[in-house]
Amino acid sequence: MSVLLQIGRRPPDRNPASAPGPAPDAEAVSAAGSGGGPLGLAAETKVFRSAHGAHLFVADGSRIYDLPEAAADRLERWTAAAHDPAQDAAVAAGLGLPLWGGAGTPPPRIDGTPAAVPPLASLSLNVMQACNLSCGHCYADEGRFGGSARAMPRETAFAAVDRLLAEAAPGAAVVVGFMGGEPLLARDLLHEVVAHATRAGAATGHAVRFALTTNLTTVRPADAELFAAHPFTVAVSLDGDRVGHDALRRAPGGGSAYDRLRAGLEVLDRYGRPRHLSARVSVTPYTGRLIDILEHGIGLGFDEVGFSAVVSAPDAAYEIDTAAFTGFLTQMVECGQAALRELAAGRPYPFGNFQTAMYELHTGGHRPYPCGAGAGYLSASAEGGLYACHRLVDDPAFAMGSLAQGPDQEARAAHLAARHVDRAEPCRSCWARYLCGGGCYHEVSRRGRTGCDYIRGWLAFCLGAYVELSQTAPEFFRQPTASDLPSDPAALAR
Ligand code: SF4
Ligand code: SF4
Repeated sequence: MSVLLQIGRRPPDRNPASAPGPAPDAEAVSAAGSGGGPLGLAAETKVFRSAHGAHLFVADGSRIYDLPEAAADRLERWTAAAHDPAQDAAVAAGLGLPLWGGAGTPPPRIDGTPAAVPPLASLSLNVMQACNLSCGHCYADEGRFGGSARAMPRETAFAAVDRLLAEAAPGAAVVVGFMGGEPLLARDLLHEVVAHATRAGAATGHAVRFALTTNLTTVRPADAELFAAHPFTVAVSLDGDRVGHDALRRAPGGGSAYDRLRAGLEVLDRYGRPRHLSARVSVTPYTGRLIDILEHGIGLGFDEVGFSAVVSAPDAAYEIDTAAFTGFLTQMVECGQAALRELAAGRPYPFGNFQTAMYELHTGGHRPYPCGAGAGYLSASAEGGLYACHRLVDDPAFAMGSLAQGPDQEARAAHLAARHVDRAEPCRSCWARYLCGGGCYHEVSRRGRTGCDYIRGWLAFCLGAYVELSQTAPEFFRQPTASDLPSDPAALAR
């Protein structure tokens, strides 16, 4: 007798980075492990509860089911206690949970096979590795990436666009990202690249979209007009209200970075808004209360406000370490509860981390990697080197070729083979692995996996919130999302 009743929509396998999977109507729980070895129920399932009762999350396929309380309680006690994984199959059978590998059940959707190297779909250009602000928590070391400030030459930027179009799948939409430092310090180049990419994309049959991450302190009317005239996604660094923002984002020579950001927002309001305007909050031990910052950002009119913990900074005092993640989780859940309340009441509440998690769970997002870095996404340095992503520029361990020679396919394949989440410890036995993907490569390479309890805690909260939202406000899931942001594809687990 099956005790399972699936909640939400059961989608086709839409993730190109996932290994080919079975028909999406499989109803089975893996107790055999999807990474090649027997892992057991603790690695494949997670019991959670909501106002609507007990539920079961199945890692493979990110499927969510209702579960009778007695079965939930038994399963929870079994997986929490020291137990013999060889007995898992018998326990699952006793609870009425069908198993992968049994008669008539399909194989897992992700099986430890590395993804094939996909065509390039997104390339970010580090057009200005220098910044007009001085922020101790900036991963880019105030834009210099540990070296000297430098700007990307025009011919390099144009070559980057041409390389992206040459490597993209025929007819596919592509994204050109502008990164820094502060990319608007390279304003003339940015305008030229947009014109070139639009022209060249039309000639090759690729729709070109643009993404920009900026502190917004130097934006001019012509920039705003450019953002409005082309399909632009703009992410603005915002760290709080005037006091909180200026404490973290220092403007050399004096003045308020916050006041300049507000002036920048007025320029956008007056001369043209991008298609999607988000605020990104980098959370440090010095950051104020997150719910206040979230509501401040929403009040400023951003389409979305999201948080990202600073795990690796040039100055370690700005890092969120394992202990600080506990407080971060408490505050994130407080923000999530506010979002749940507002959305359930039918009012918009654009908390980016929460929205991303809701849509991913609803569409059955499951992947063996944290993001597209090194796969469909690469980043070009000012000198024309290619790297796995914008935060890994100049890191030889993540070098992926050059604009002149093209992407290094062997390096990309080796990256995807080595970093499959089912091949990483302790990820391969973590129930959250196909939502998390194993953690940001930049952070893991610098600090290890320091935020796992936070990631699992946040996802456990989101699972309960998803069930509640799908009951109280199903119309939320019928709204379109703006998810063409190449700058931080691992937002789900943040
Ligand atoms: S990084 Fe941590 S939370 Fe993410 S899959 Fe690995 S063990 Fe799980
Ligand atoms: S999650 Fe990390 S590795 Fe992936 S794109 Fe973002 S910064 Fe780069």
